[in-house]
Amino acid sequence: AFITLEGGDGSGKTTQAALLQGWLEREGRTVVRTREPGGTPLGVEIRRLVQHTEGHIAPRAEALLYAADRAHHVATLVRPALERGEVVLQDRYLDSSVAYQGAGRELDPQQVRDLSLWAVDGLLPHLTILLDLDPAAGRARMAERADAPYDRLEETGLDFAERVRAAYLDLAAAERDRFAIVDASADPDAVHASVVSHVRAMLDA
Ligand code: C5P
Ligand code: MG
Repeated sequence: AFITLEGGDGSGKTTQAALLQGWLEREGRTVVRTREPGGTPLGVEIRRLVQHTEGHIAPRAEALLYAADRAHHVATLVRPALERGEVVLQDRYLDSSVAYQGAGRELDPQQVRDLSLWAVDGLLPHLTILLDLDPAAGRARMAERADAPYDRLEETGLDFAERVRAAYLDLAAAERDRFAIVDASADPDAVHASVVSHVRAMLDA
């Protein structure tokens, strides 16, 4: 099974991925937990480029860098794990590009989606958990974090984050069978319980 976690900055994706990995392993599953960008050695280089390049990266160039990371990640890590029958639990996937590069950077969301689908040869998750959170609340959480990408957040602003959130909700409405929307404002254990209910339903289906 292929499960992805999506949501804005500070929505708790990484925390929930760790909790969900523990739950899946207690259920006897073999789990590959990974992330984008940065799930492979090449991806680590691309992550460094998109996050730390001095000055502005042209939006189309940024979209292509994320797509390149995704293409390599799916071909070398995700598909092989799925073929071995393992659960791939992934922090961000192509919906991040539709939301951030498509809506956030105001490229055409449909074109960004098509680019990502080409990059991964059509691979879609079985389940995508959208951790939905008010962007201001997400920022408040990020401000408390040591690894927060402050510069990027300063650069993009709250209107960018609002476009990202709206795009995610549009995606979830358009693909209701794939998405589960979880209220990420609750405490981590309560969010985890809700995440587990959706994952259990998907695995039992
Ligand atoms: O969630 P994570 O820490 O991996 O995200 C790193 C940064 O990259 C975040 O600031 C996020 O907003 C940004 N990002 C992006 N477009 C993507 C994926 C991540 O702008 N497709
Ligand atoms: Mg994270």
